[in-house]
Amino acid sequence: SGNRQKFVSPLINKKNETNDEDEICKKYGYYLNSGSAKQSSNNNNNNNSNSNEEVDERLKNIEPKMIEMIMNEMLDKTPTITWDDIAGLEHAKSTIMESVIWPMQRPDIFTGLRGPPKGLLLYGPPGTGKTLIGKCIASQSGATFFNISSSSLTSKWIGEGEKMVRALFAVARVHQPSVIFVDEIDSLLTQRTDGENEANRRIKTEFLVQFDGCGTSAEDRILLIGATNRPGEIDEAARRRFRKKLYIPLPDEGARKALLTNLLKKQSHSLSDDEINTVVEKTKGYSGSDVDGLCREAALGPIRELKGDIKNININDVRPMNCQDFIEALSQVRASVSEKDLEFYIKFDEEYGSKR
Ligand code: ADP
Repeated sequence: SGNRQKFVSPLINKKNETNDEDEICKKYGYYLNSGSAKQSSNNNNNNNSNSNEEVDERLKNIEPKMIEMIMNEMLDKTPTITWDDIAGLEHAKSTIMESVIWPMQRPDIFTGLRGPPKGLLLYGPPGTGKTLIGKCIASQSGATFFNISSSSLTSKWIGEGEKMVRALFAVARVHQPSVIFVDEIDSLLTQRTDGENEANRRIKTEFLVQFDGCGTSAEDRILLIGATNRPGEIDEAARRRFRKKLYIPLPDEGARKALLTNLLKKQSHSLSDDEINTVVEKTKGYSGSDVDGLCREAALGPIRELKGDIKNININDVRPMNCQDFIEALSQVRASVSEKDLEFYIKFDEEYGSKR
């Protein structure tokens, strides 16, 4: 295939970047090794005083540069996220608690028939908290969180996506328990194979091989979370591999109120409870990130009134946000999800969604 291009590391041009494979190897081999040593310290670590200088067995055939990139670009170290940070979504939360968090916390109890799912599919409109849920799962189960978007696999590492997939799973295995969160997973696992180019097809194949391989070793504790706004595009065979499929809908009234109240906590405002309820009513159809955008827009109201003399203003002269700020913001920030899309999600949920 002539369209295979040479892999160019996006890191090469960075200042202070080392291309010395030995050096990278040492840095990450050491790091990764000490990471995995934590997991197995009580049985096989004592007889191997030299282990810190060796690269972990599971990374032997992986290019050090790829490991470096995964550690830099995909490993996500966001601070702890708790369930309380996520508004609404009670159904998803309780299902995840029972089928994902408990098994990750107590792998000794959740074996055999109770074994944890390897795959979790989150679908629904954009901006509804799918990524937040992924982070929360990792954070609550003490897992390492890898966050990648499908488009970066298929476009950023031209010709190397396949190797990158292998590398990602290898690194995740070394750092387990791990959560691999793949955004826009539909574009990776698409049904349309006819017009598909060879490189993408190979990435998809490798991805499914790795995904299937995840659970072959009983100790492997890797959870793959796929997020998508287009669940219908996912190939049926791939879809079946996600044991749990959860609909992440738009926030209902209660969730929007929780979101608003939470966002307003960070700012001084004069909205009464009734006024907050009015905003909640008027944001029917808004996603969580739409509500977030609305509040940000409203928060600029008091600033705009200052007519530009920002540099000399006394902070105490900035008035609290009020209901009028929201009324104006509502005309600027509209719901981003169409009725038609919503109907599709609901239909898909009825057909494929996990009821528990
Ligand atoms: P997506 O479903 O597209 O992955 P995200 O999880 O990235 O959406 O959410 C985008 C932003 O919207 C979050 O950072 C958060 O500020 C806000 N948000 C969306 N849904 C919720 C929710 N249910 N609870 C709290 N914040 C939310």
